[in-house]
Amino acid sequence: MRQLRILVDMDDTIEHLLLAWVDCLNEIHGTSVEYKEIREWNLCTAFPTLTKEQVFAPLVEDEFWKTVKPMAYASEVLEWAINEGHEIYIVTASAYETIKSKMENVLFKYFPFISWKNVIIAHNKQMIRGDIMVDDAPHNLEGGDYVKVLMTANHNRDYNASEHGMTRVNDWYDVRNCIIAVACEDELKIGLQANRENPVWYLERDWGVKLHPYQSVLLQSMLGGTN
Ligand SMILES: [Mg+2]
Repeated sequence: MRQLRILVDMDDTIEHLLLAWVDCLNEIHGTSVEYKEIREWNLCTAFPTLTKEQVFAPLVEDEFWKTVKPMAYASEVLEWAINEGHEIYIVTASAYETIKSKMENVLFKYFPFISWKNVIIAHNKQMIRGDIMVDDAPHNLEGGDYVKVLMTANHNRDYNASEHGMTRVNDWYDVRNCIIAVACEDELKIGLQANRENPVWYLERDWGVKLHPYQSVLLQSMLGGTN
């Protein structure tokens, strides 16, 4: 297994910023914008009755960051990756005014095994070196010299990830599978060939990887197995 340097975005990759933000704006301004209906990167377009200042105001409030919750299994998978010997760096393009509260009320609270030394603040994420980057923003992955893992989010649902050389994931279980695939590529190839009659069973038994049904069908067909 290769030891990887894994770059991980924060907002809407390891936590649900947008969900908390929409709830907060609805509560303050009496609007009724549905989180699920948002399709734009720019939240201002979803709140046409509010000014840009009103939309962004919650992000500098400590109380707001206390309402931002982690994504399911993000903490478990990141801790697992560290225990496997991988390096984790949080790479976030956060505005400087938000950093302290965001770190204290979200990152260090829900991901206490990640220290400030492993946080990189960067707008041009393509400048950062690593083996994998997990991010919900396609513009942070495009052109980067790393394996590109796109976390599904409302604003990127219509984006063609595979056309841009990215792997789309829907949850942190999928991220874990991506990490295993990159770190253990050689061992996986050998193991899959040796178990080509039942690769799905092999992946589950030896790697703890459970595939989606369509992935199982695809894999068996590629390897020429019968199950
Ligand atoms: Mg993000």
